[in-house]
Parts: sequence; structure tokens; C-alpha cells
Amino acid sequence: MSRRLFTPPGRAGRIRAVGPVAGLPPTFRRALEEQGFDPIPRPGPRDWLASHPEPGQSFAAFLAAHPAVLDPARRTLYLQPFGRFDTGREPPLDLLSRFAAAFFTLPLAVLPVAPASGVTSRVNRYTGARQLLTRDLLALLAQHRPAGACYVVGITMDDLYPGPAWNFVFGEAAPHERVGVYSFARYLTGEAGPAAATLFLRRCCKVLAHETAHLLGIGHCVFYSCLMNGSNNLPESDARPLHLCPVDLRKLQHCLGFDVTARYQDLLIFAQNADFADEARWLATQLRHIKRGPG
Ligand SMILES: [Zn+2]
Ligand SMILES: [Zn+2]
Repeated sequence: MSRRLFTPPGRAGRIRAVGPVAGLPPTFRRALEEQGFDPIPRPGPRDWLASHPEPGQSFAAFLAAHPAVLDPARRTLYLQPFGRFDTGREPPLDLLSRFAAAFFTLPLAVLPVAPASGVTSRVNRYTGARQLLTRDLLALLAQHRPAGACYVVGITMDDLYPGPAWNFVFGEAAPHERVGVYSFARYLTGEAGPAAATLFLRRCCKVLAHETAHLLGIGHCVFYSCLMNGSNNLPESDARPLHLCPVDLRKLQHCLGFDVTARYQDLLIFAQNADFADEARWLATQLRHIKRGPG
């Protein structure tokens, strides 16, 4: 394999990826400006883009792939927890669902916790932990998908594997079935206390938003520091912000048709309640910028 190196795009490349903004409402246009966003850093040797030099997905490329636009009759995003969610190690489902509702601006429903009985499982020979086969979980999600569901996202504290040859997988999606399943098991901090709980919740929110955005057809981001950056390791994914860059905000808005100001306001309330201090500060600054009037 020839080794290609990833070079971060310059300002012109980033602006081009957002695409022409003439004709958009002024608040939306300001939300797509560079203010408040950091260009993607040059990847370190162990980072995602060092081993996966992806070309990136501009807003135009996203449109050219004909992303699904939400059917008004199917607007509810469902969460389906699998396995145990009562041991105290899990992320609080009410907070997770409030975050997802604010992030995607969709009605959100949490289905009753489903047992993983009947799902093919094994014990991982390195960790000794139980692992569930993603294919079985995806089949269950598709089979029981509620009529009004846009997507059903399975979440679990069990580790996952996609087949016998694999050690583990963080998650898997079946976009044509509008379902995906993701594990939080490998995001536990191993520590107790409120700071560790907040970090773990933040990681869970990130996985949920990143993976659900993939279900909507949004690819990895190579333009800014962004929720949609690929990641190879925990320090790299912890360094990603919880918000979308202008390119990916525009894609999400295209799919869901929300008002950017109202969405940021809802996310700000969530971030304040969840003690996501950095994110709350960022959202407050962004809101001041986009509401500052014509300009
Ligand atoms: Zn991804
Ligand atoms: Zn992005």
C-alpha cells in the first residue's frame, strides 16, 4: 500500500466544503462562519487520519449522495437499551435521551430495556467480558422497529463483536434498515466520582450523536475539529468537541430542517444541566455570535 499523507485543508478548502451560503437566513449564515471553529489539526502518528487519509465529505458531496430526507410520518428517534441498565455503571437514560432530542431536534422515545437473551454471545478471550453479536442485535432492532421511527439506535453496556474473526467492535449500523447498535463498555473511565461520571456521560453522548449522524449519511470530517472526526483511540475521541463544524451542521440542518438558534439554545440548557462546562461556554458564545444582528 502506498503511503498517502493527510494534509489539513486551508481556509479556502474549508469554505468551499461549506458551499455557497447566499440566500440562507442571516442567523444560519453566521452559524456557518468560521468563528468559534478550529481547523482540523495535523494528525499525530497514532491518530485516525494518519492511517485513514480520508478525502472528506463536503456539503456538495453529501447532497450528491442523495441523503434521506426525513419522512414527516416517521420522525421519532428511538433508543433501545440492551442488557443491564440498572447497575449504576450505565449512563442515565433520561440525560442521554434529552441530549439526543436536543442534538437532532426530534421527538425521542426510550424503549423498555430489552434482555440480551437469545442474542448470540461469547466471552472475549483477552478481556473475559461477555460480548454480543452485532448482527443479531441489528436483526432484532429491524424486526421490532416502531412504525413512527426514523431510526432505532440500540445501546448497551455489553461489549460487541461483528463475527468470530474479530476481537471487538464499538458498534455497527444497517442504514438501509435505519438501525444501528453501539456499546458504551469501552468508554468507562475506571474511576468513581462526579468528574468521572460527567466524562463518561460526555463520551456516551458523543458516540450516540456521531453514530446517529452516520446513519443520516454524514461522513467523517476532515475540515475542522468536529464531532464527526474519525478517531483511533480514546484520547483522540476525547479531544473531539461535542458539536458539529459548519460543514456538518449544514448537512444535519438539511436533513432535519431545524432553526439553528433554537437548537443551540436547547443544547445550551442541556450542557448546563449536565455540567458540560466547556460545551456550555462554546454554545453561549456561538449564540451571541449568530444573534448579533445583520452583518
Ligand atoms: Zn465514525
Ligand atoms: Zn465537521
